[in-house]
Amino acid sequence: MNKYKYFENVKENAYFTEAPCQFCGATENCLDGAFFERDDIESICLNCFEKKIVEVDIPDYIRDRIKKDSEKKFGELRFTPPVPWIQNNDWPVCCDDYMVFIGEWEQDDFIKASENNDGKALLKKLLHEDLIELVENWDALWDDIGYETAAFVFKCPYCGKTVVICQDY
Ligand SMILES: [Zn+2]
Ligand SMILES: [Zn+2]
Repeated sequence: MNKYKYFENVKENAYFTEAPCQFCGATENCLDGAFFERDDIESICLNCFEKKIVEVDIPDYIRDRIKKDSEKKFGELRFTPPVPWIQNNDWPVCCDDYMVFIGEWEQDDFIKASENNDGKALLKKLLHEDLIELVENWDALWDDIGYETAAFVFKCPYCGKTVVICQDY
């Protein structure tokens, strides 16, 4: 299995579907087709995905967030398993490259990663800047983590910055 530059631990962190791969019939490690550029994809296993048969659907404005070598970096992102959340696959950028998806965090993960067992304070610190102004109530957001709200965590391999992107369901 490939290692992906922008996606850590695919086996654990990718979203897999029960539907067998429509290219080879494999029933394991099948990515859900909802996030790909072709709309006739229901399921594709990681082996077939690594053959670059289909690309993940990512809008051009996400390419335009990168200044240097954007075609190369964007090209690689399009063959990275999707993080199963917002349709736009709105990948955060730091140090002029895409950040690495390191997984979805529950409240416990925030608490463990925090300094004084204050997971909520850590969430406040790490939430992506574009999302901060949308938060009406931090307590409510915190209470929803792992229930109505998923917290996707990304890390910059260059400067070590971590950001959280929350998505409501
Ligand atoms: Zn396959
Ligand atoms: Zn950085």
